[in-house]
Amino acid sequence: MSSCALGHGPALPPWPFQGPLEPVFAAAIEVFMAIRTILEFPDPRLRTRAQTVARFDADLHRIIDDMLETMYAAPGIGLAATQVDVHQRLVVIDISADRADPLILINPEILTREGEIATEEGCLSVPGYYDEVKRASRIRVRAQDRDGNVFERDCADLLAVCVQHEMDHIEGKLFVDYISSLKRERVRKKLEKERKDRAARASTARESRRAL
Ligand code: ZN
Repeated sequence: MSSCALGHGPALPPWPFQGPLEPVFAAAIEVFMAIRTILEFPDPRLRTRAQTVARFDADLHRIIDDMLETMYAAPGIGLAATQVDVHQRLVVIDISADRADPLILINPEILTREGEIATEEGCLSVPGYYDEVKRASRIRVRAQDRDGNVFERDCADLLAVCVQHEMDHIEGKLFVDYISSLKRERVRKKLEKERKDRAARASTARESRRAL
C-alpha cells in the first residue's frame, strides 16, 4: 500500500498549484484522491451490470490502487468496482490477517462450484447489516491479473464466499437479494433514515459554523 511520508519534505506550495508539481506533492494528492466513495443500498447504480475490462493500462491500475485503498480504509475484505461507481468487471479481495495479500480479479468467471457453506455476510454497501447467505464452499475461478495475464485459482470457505459475493456485485446483485423482501425493505428504510439523519447533522454543523 502506498504510505505517505508528509511532514518531512519542503513546505507546501501555495494553493491553487501553478506549474508542474514536485513529485512529493503529486504523490500526496494521489494519496488524498485514493479513497473513493462507496455507494450504498438502495442506490440504483449498484444494479448496473459491469462491462468487460479490455484495456490493462495506467487508468485501470489507478482504479485498482484506489479500490485497494478504499477497501483497506473501510475496512473491508472485498470490494467490487461497481461499489465505487466504476462499472467494469473488477474486484479486489484481501482476507489475510495482516491485510497484505491482495487478490485482484479482472473479468472473473467461476469454472466449477462444489459444496455449500452458510456464512453471516455483510457488505460495505449495506453498512451495519449482516445476515446468513448460502453459497458454494469451493470454487475454481479464472480471471486476469492487473497486466491482463490469465490465471486460475481454487478458493475455499471464506475466500470462496468473498469471491462469489464480489462477483455478484459486478452483475448488479447484492447479498440482501438472498434474504426475504420484507427484511430487505426493513434494511432499505433503516439505511435511508440513517442517511437523512447524517445529512441533517451535517447541515446543522454547517449552520453552527456560520453562526460563529
Ligand atoms: Zn458487498
